[in-house]
Amino acid sequence: MSIRPAVSTSSATPTREGAGVHLHRAFGFHEPQAYDPFLLFDDFRNDNPEAYAGGFPWHPHRGIETITYVLNGSVEHNDSLGNSGTLGAGDVQWMTAGSGIMHQEMPNGNTRGQMHGFQLWANLPGSLKMTAPRYQDVEAKEIPEIIDDDGTSVRVITGEFWGQRGPVDGIAADPLYLDISIPRGCRKVLKVDTYRNTFAYIFGGAGKFADASSPQGVLLEKEVMGQEVNIRDLSGNRTLVNFGTGDEVVVQAGPDGMRFLLIAGSPIKEPVAWHGPIVMNTREELHQAFADLRNDQFIKTQDH
Ligand code: MN
Repeated sequence: MSIRPAVSTSSATPTREGAGVHLHRAFGFHEPQAYDPFLLFDDFRNDNPEAYAGGFPWHPHRGIETITYVLNGSVEHNDSLGNSGTLGAGDVQWMTAGSGIMHQEMPNGNTRGQMHGFQLWANLPGSLKMTAPRYQDVEAKEIPEIIDDDGTSVRVITGEFWGQRGPVDGIAADPLYLDISIPRGCRKVLKVDTYRNTFAYIFGGAGKFADASSPQGVLLEKEVMGQEVNIRDLSGNRTLVNFGTGDEVVVQAGPDGMRFLLIAGSPIKEPVAWHGPIVMNTREELHQAFADLRNDQFIKTQDH
């Protein structure tokens, strides 16, 4: 057993995307290798309909997968394959853009005006960048939720955890995507295979992770007994934690409990050529993608 130290923490920063949607970006564009195989993580939680009303009208993607997880409100989507549908609270859509897709994502608030959710981008390896586009729409009720003895709950969206397997499959990044809620004061040791890169995104309550200067979980026990130790004290909402190597994450919830996503994936370790919604390996492939867009050659697959 070796604990993954929290090697960096940061706060998601305000930005605008689509047709003027206000959101918070935890990472994306600046360090394409830092979270390999993941490229971008957006937090689009908003309580003001004016801040998201414009939505994300028709736009292309190539070379990546986008993963949308809705907590409140809903997202209507349409695409160039003829798919359309609505993602509601607790639902997940895993979209493999592959060789190319045009789609739009239009948010609608719940009765209180809330539109809450997250979008993650996972890279595709060069061998799969031009694969056929694919959607996996997963309803909330299909996602297993495990409740542990201390009241900790874990929704397993993809990957295997505590003997449960999430419904999303066949993803190149071989991801683990968990939504974890830990009651106040509880300490958890969470297994994450050594080969995966791992980050957490805290969006409720607060807590502590073992950090690089005191990676031994036993220190967390001492801290509970009132002794001073070095551990990451995270003030919670919109906090990104990137972990170093190891095979488990050690976390302790604060007095209000803690809710976070724990996301891990197998690094692709390839060059990244990225412009806007298109991510390839080389500049030539990127130029080809934009030439295809101009020449109406972007969509390679027609199901309808
Ligand atoms: Mn999109």
